[in-house]
Amino acid sequence: MAARIIDGKLISTEVKDRIAAEVAEYVEAEGRTPTLATVIVGDDPASHIYVANKHKACEQVGINSAHHGLDADTPEDELVELVASLGIDDSIDGILVQLPVPGHINPDVVVGAINPAKDVDGLTPVSAGLLSAGNPGLVPCTPAGVIEMLDHEGVELSGAEAVVVGRSNLVGKPVAALLLARNATVTICHSRTKDLPGTCSRADVLVAAVGVPELLGADCVKPGATVIDVGMNRTDDGLKGDVDFAAASEVAGAITPVPGGVGPMTIAMLMSNTLAAARAR
Ligand code: NAP
Repeated sequence: MAARIIDGKLISTEVKDRIAAEVAEYVEAEGRTPTLATVIVGDDPASHIYVANKHKACEQVGINSAHHGLDADTPEDELVELVASLGIDDSIDGILVQLPVPGHINPDVVVGAINPAKDVDGLTPVSAGLLSAGNPGLVPCTPAGVIEMLDHEGVELSGAEAVVVGRSNLVGKPVAALLLARNATVTICHSRTKDLPGTCSRADVLVAAVGVPELLGADCVKPGATVIDVGMNRTDDGLKGDVDFAAASEVAGAITPVPGGVGPMTIAMLMSNTLAAARAR
């Protein structure tokens, strides 16, 4: 039986339409437009494409964007100074520093300089602490997108067995915290997990955030499970997820494709976070 495909493009469009309506209400009520500041250091082509896509989404939903492009050799303290100044600039609601930064800059120092009230990527220690404590705060965009997709599909999380493969601060840990906050029983797997198929195949909800193309096959999927594939791996055969889509979709109840699954959700949730940050200020 072939699984139902969870259409990230469609869901992200719905989210952006909702945000656009809410932004219009905010502008009407507050007499100002939410504004996202983006900062990019250097010429990495992929980073420039990501930031351009974020600006395009801002335009679509009616959020202003203010861009700061810095030379690749910009010293760390200059970048930190800029990020700190955006933090106290009243016209700015959200700050996004596109990662990775060049090797001479410590990303933790830069992220630490972001005013947590404007941390629309949800990466500061304050945001991570709030999430871990189960308190409201700005949540990293990709994990927030995963939960949005599960909600859209009407997946019951309370009491469900959820297995997250990957424990990065960017994806795995926040996804696990969000699933736990929704009362799922959560297991986190990583590179030292002994029996990956045995653990994954217990999951009603399986989230893959590994970075290894097609690592998880049909033996990792419980019949009827919902499979969310965060992986985005460039291979000679094109973009691949962390899940072997063809094999897993024979067993799963619902599954996200790559591309067209989680990817489009990330930018939609950035728009949602920017509006939330504007409202909270
Ligand atoms: P990461 O920081 O490299 O973390 C990968 C995690 O996977 C680590 O916890 C690692 O375990 C675990 N892992 C690696 N090999 C494994 C294996 N063979 N078995 C079990 N676990 C294994 O990666 P990330 O930033 O979380 O990203 C994960 C994937 O998501 C990548 O493909 C990335 O491109 C994609 N991604 C997509 C979006 C999107 O918008 N769709 C956003 C962010 C990331 P250890 O901790 O033990 O090393």
